[in-house]
Amino acid sequence: MKTTWAWLGDHLAVDFANTIKVVDNSTIELIGSVEEFHDWHEAEPADLPTVVLTSESLRDLRNLRDCALRLLHAACDDRTLPQADVATINEAIEIGGTLRLLGSAAGTSRLQSASEGGFDALAGLLAAAVVDLLAREDLANIAVCSAPSCGQFFHRARPNQMWCSPGCGNRARVDRHRHRRMDATGMARR
Ligand SMILES: [Zn+2]
Repeated sequence: MKTTWAWLGDHLAVDFANTIKVVDNSTIELIGSVEEFHDWHEAEPADLPTVVLTSESLRDLRNLRDCALRLLHAACDDRTLPQADVATINEAIEIGGTLRLLGSAAGTSRLQSASEGGFDALAGLLAAAVVDLLAREDLANIAVCSAPSCGQFFHRARPNQMWCSPGCGNRARVDRHRHRRMDATGMARR
């Protein structure tokens, strides 16, 4: 099934990390092909350099995404950040020559790459977005959605918000109801 990318538009680091889904405890890759990556790039509202990826550079980008995932999960769980991933993210920023410049209004800034575009510029900007998010003390209220067939990161609007969207909330409730009924049937048989 073609991914709609309807959830994009959060912090760039969150959008980058949300290129996977978790269904029945297994990870579903949403940018498994160059075409799928292209669709993500087109749907992503953040200003990113145009880049033609090969299957090899796509693999490198997915490795960077996996670093972002491990870092975000560690931060959400209040664990120590995996240091190898910290180094990989920082290295991508250095290679991409990623700079943070002042925006036209107070309180705003923008990321820019000093490199000529292409893969290094893209990877540097995505890595810098991860730094942006994880350097914040409040982590922009990031949490992981625990609904079945989701497992994606979202910005909490309320402190106890458990699901990223009403759709996920409904699925989680239906799932819980189904499990409760299965439990009840099991009890009756005994
Ligand atoms: Zn969700």
